Amino acid sequence: MEEWKIGASSRHCFKCQAEIEPEADYYSAIVRKDESFERSDYCEGCWDGAGLDPQSAFAFWRTRWTPAPARGPRRIRFDPDVALEFFRRLGEDDRDGDEGRKLRYLLGLLLFRRKILSLQRTEDRDGKRVLWFAEKEGPSHPVVDPGLPADELSTVRGRLAELLDLDLPEAPAE
Ligand SMILES: [Zn+2]
Repeated sequence: MEEWKIGASSRHCFKCQAEIEPEADYYSAIVRKDESFERSDYCEGCWDGAGLDPQSAFAFWRTRWTPAPARGPRRIRFDPDVALEFFRRLGEDDRDGDEGRKLRYLLGLLLFRRKILSLQRTEDRDGKRVLWFAEKEGPSHPVVDPGLPADELSTVRGRLAELLDLDLPEAPAE
């Protein structure tokens, strides 16, 4: 576990709308909605009944809400397993569309920089660069470089930070 900074100041349960109390445990899930992805938070009482479809829930995790200090960024713990699980799910098939492919590329780079994935090799496939990322004692995953221009890269980084509740401290560029 390592720490990341995030900036949000309050949190509400997606189901009952109650504000999540300071220091309370809660659950977060990433679900697919149409062609996009959303993160929703649930208080402990609502989590069991949230009725998330395992086919559309991409990743979920339990965490604790620690309010921001008066000054400076709040820090939360980043669970690499959650990021890795999201990365794997995005690669399962091609139904996740354009945004899924961009998120997967950035997640791959992020996990590579965190030494959770290693880069085995790159290859050229129909004019596109394909990066092969390998898990420590697991399979390799081919990831197509979507060739994002810099401004779009920062938009996708913002989405990733929002979904995983992170303030990415460094640009996962090459
Ligand atoms: Zn609730």
